[in-house]
Formats: sequence, structure tokens, C-alpha cells
Amino acid sequence: MNEADDSYEEFFEKVIHAYHIPEKLEAMKGKWPSKLSTRGLNWLAKAFLKHHKIKEQDIFERYNLDKQEICTGVFCPNSKCASRMPMIRKNGSWFCKACLCQAKNAHFAALKDYALLFGPKITNSEAQRFLHLDSCNTAYKLLQGLSLSTKGKTKF
Ligand SMILES: [Zn+2]
Repeated sequence: MNEADDSYEEFFEKVIHAYHIPEKLEAMKGKWPSKLSTRGLNWLAKAFLKHHKIKEQDIFERYNLDKQEICTGVFCPNSKCASRMPMIRKNGSWFCKACLCQAKNAHFAALKDYALLFGPKITNSEAQRFLHLDSCNTAYKLLQGLSLSTKGKTKF
């Protein structure tokens, strides 16, 4: 085994994927049983949860994408519908011109996509543009219906 292999193994002794933490803890428990009591494990679990941070990454930079390339709009939730056209807002619901289905909360999935792509904050005008709404007032009402935390003085 050469020096590179040693450092590689050493690296994986110190850095592991979160998925492997339980098995790593179990292995450590057998190695040092007196150091990992139930109380100690509970403390460790709380420490992991307290210090856990979601890795923030700019997905556009990582995949060399332009934000203008993202297909916006609310898409049909009907799995049998092959429509690539965004749904339209009509009479308080979302309507698919292709399969004629209606879905009251189809914007939930679109807003989840928005959060994954652009982050957890959205303004009324950004929601209006992303969901292809005619009015900022509708965007405001849809966002209010989600019971999200709000910030800022401008309503529309
Ligand atoms: Zn459809």
C-alpha cells in the first residue's frame, strides 16, 4: 500500500456520508463501549441535528445553466397527460388545456420546484411570473394560502 492509499483510507475514517453515520456509530460502539452510552448517543444525535446545515449550492453555476432556460409555469399533475404546456388559472383552480383536468393545488409542485432552484424565498411578483399569473394579487393570495412566513411591507 502506498502513501496515497493511506491518505485515502485516512480520509474515509474522518469523512463519511450522512447515510453511513448509524453503521459508523454502531462500529464505534463495539470499539469503545464505555464511551458511547445511550446518554452519549442521545447527546451526539442532538449535536448532529443542532449543527446540521443543508449544503447550499448554486445549481445554475454547477450545471452551467442560465436561469432563463428554466421552464416556468404550473404543470399538469395528471401522470397520463403528456402536455408540456403550463396550466392556466381559471375560476380559482388550475386547468390543463390538453387533458382538461383541473387541480386546485397544482401550484404547490411548481413552488417546490422554485424553492429547489432559486431558494426558499419568493416575492409576489416572482410568483406571478413563475406561475404565469395575470395578477400579482392572485400570486399574493396563493402564497398567503400556503401559510409561509412573510417579510416586507409591500403586499403586491
Ligand atoms: Zn393535463
